[in-house]
Amino acid sequence: MSEIRKRTGNLIVLSGPSGAGKSTLVGAVRKHLPDLEFSISCTTRKPRPGELHGREYYFLTPEEFEARSQAGGFVEEARVFAHRYGTLKSEVLERVRRGADVILDIDVQGATQIREAAKHDAELAAAAVFVLISPPSLELLEARLRKRATDSEEQLALRLAAAERELASFRLYDYLIVNDDLETAAAELEGLFRSFRLRTGLIPEGSEPWRRK
Ligand code: 5GP
Repeated sequence: MSEIRKRTGNLIVLSGPSGAGKSTLVGAVRKHLPDLEFSISCTTRKPRPGELHGREYYFLTPEEFEARSQAGGFVEEARVFAHRYGTLKSEVLERVRRGADVILDIDVQGATQIREAAKHDAELAAAAVFVLISPPSLELLEARLRKRATDSEEQLALRLAAAERELASFRLYDYLIVNDDLETAAAELEGLFRSFRLRTGLIPEGSEPWRRK
């Protein structure tokens, strides 16, 4: 690779309430940007039908999760809907160093922790970008979740309250994509991911990429 193309990668923090269409959007963008990588989180929740250990998540017992946490294995961790979730350091840091763009699908608590950690970690500060996917309105989100019909009334109320909290934190994020029309939102997300590759912060310290060797 020529010197001018040598870069570290982006650590892309992507949040959004369930029902905002995050996974559909990412799936659509991935078709055009196949090199995007994903961080596989650990969770103590049980796998849903079709989910595989090591693909969607690393499904851990509460004891296993706690041991990893105690050993300092997580970049961030949080409790979401009564379960623990965490991003493993081993899933992201090395990959970003070698130039991969890694997506972290995490909630607002995790995003807040990464923002905080970046204040004292220059490498993290250079790599992290924060994107929030929002539904057009809470009413529409509720309608989408009802249509999905996988939640009890109680779960639905919990999800909506969590969504409202998450959306209220939008200023924590650098970018906000409103998923009104799927095609438009996917094009916006793809545009963001492409432009992230051009950030000067990814060019290694001391590099003078414009100079011929
Ligand atoms: P689900 O259980 O439906 O897959 O995910 C529930 C929520 O947990 C989603 O908002 C998702 O973004 C969040 N989540 C998944 N993995 C992590 C993680 O490693 N850390 C944090 N903070 N949130 C996560």
